[in-house]
Amino acid sequence: MEQSECDSKGKLYLCATPIGNLGDMTYRAVGMLESADIIAAEDTRHTRKLLSHFDIHTPLVSYHEHNKYEKGPILIDEMLSGKTVVCVSDAGMPGISDPGSHLAELAISARIDVSPLPGANAALSALICSGLDTRQFFFVGFLPRTGQKRREVLEDVSGIHHTLIFYEAPHHLRATLKDLCDALGSDRRAVAARELTKKFEEFRRDTLGGLCMYYNENEPRGEFVIIVDGMSDTDAGGNEDSDMPHEKCLELAVQMYDRLIADGTQKKEAMRTAAHHYGISRRDVYQEVEKRK
Ligand code: SAM
Repeated sequence: MEQSECDSKGKLYLCATPIGNLGDMTYRAVGMLESADIIAAEDTRHTRKLLSHFDIHTPLVSYHEHNKYEKGPILIDEMLSGKTVVCVSDAGMPGISDPGSHLAELAISARIDVSPLPGANAALSALICSGLDTRQFFFVGFLPRTGQKRREVLEDVSGIHHTLIFYEAPHHLRATLKDLCDALGSDRRAVAARELTKKFEEFRRDTLGGLCMYYNENEPRGEFVIIVDGMSDTDAGGNEDSDMPHEKCLELAVQMYDRLIADGTQKKEAMRTAAHHYGISRRDVYQEVEKRK
């Protein structure tokens, strides 16, 4: 850790904490949590366990969704008087489907420096191992639980071409996969990333339809990130304009087919997904696969 960071005061740090594996805590985060004046935690009981693991004794205050309007200004006063505050959530990055962004906003308005202590994040950890396109992605997080708002968000994201990232709790996973199938189509490639960095970490790479079927037969357990292919040009009706030669489409479709089969997808489903994704007929993909045997 740099000396200047220990000495600096009147600053807000947003600190990532592990999403399952305590070994993912960074040296810098431990040092800053030790040297800070105050730790603002989403759940003080939860964070106390983390702090006791690292033998950190910095005072803890609670800061969460339901007290942010009351606690936020108090923390700002502390920082204005020269104190260093480190904000943590229960897991991962504060501000990502977690408290933190409101405090950052208040601090910026009060001209207090805001600095990240980067580390674990479930969305990006799932994305980089998904095998789907990582160049451009759209983070949705948790869908609204029910009703019109949920339908609107699903409709909005169904037309996005970038890879989509969703968070979901196990008891809502089946309903969410079903709604994603209905809104986005069951053919889209999708990955259920479960229990990341933990003992039972698992990546299930399939289609939305395949994941739906699997989790209807198997109880979803643990925490999930769902990564879904963005809308393809063929979904958008734009395939006629695509300048990718047929031969290239065929080659990529066969590669996708092989990957899906290796991940355990049924032959028929893999054929349909690959053909649909590259806007070519299933017969063409079938013939090419047979030819390459
Ligand atoms: N701030 C956190 C982050 O940076 O990833 C996210 C917090 S959000 C309240 C919790 C959700 O993140 C879970 O419901 C799940 O969707 C996802 N998540 C957190 N830890 C996870 C893990 N170890 N494996 C898979 N998903 C996880």
